[in-house]
Amino acid sequence: MTVRHEGGATAVDAELEVWIDQDLCTGDGICAQYAPEVFELDIDGLAYVKSADDELLQAPGATTRVPLPLLADVADSAKECPGDCIHVRRVTDRVEVYGPDAE
Ligand code: SF4
Repeated sequence: MTVRHEGGATAVDAELEVWIDQDLCTGDGICAQYAPEVFELDIDGLAYVKSADDELLQAPGATTRVPLPLLADVADSAKECPGDCIHVRRVTDRVEVYGPDAE
């Protein structure tokens, strides 16, 4: 949920985005099993994120927003990813909240 002050400053912003470091992806497909709405394997055998309208974002390191109802599945994907290459971060300050660089 996003709440904004007048003038556009963000008061509460829980929006998250996710990206995959394809250099480390093993292609096992765990992420696509957990959250097929967000992750998909391409013909190169590596996982990529998808846009809100289901388009595969094939640029390395491309990001997509994490729909709130899918957050648990995306977080589990990041935790279980054998390549440690799924990064979930806040949109506002790019701080990683799930993934290998999370605190
Ligand atoms: S779970 Fe991780 S290593 Fe496995 S396909 Fe997805 S991004 Fe690649």
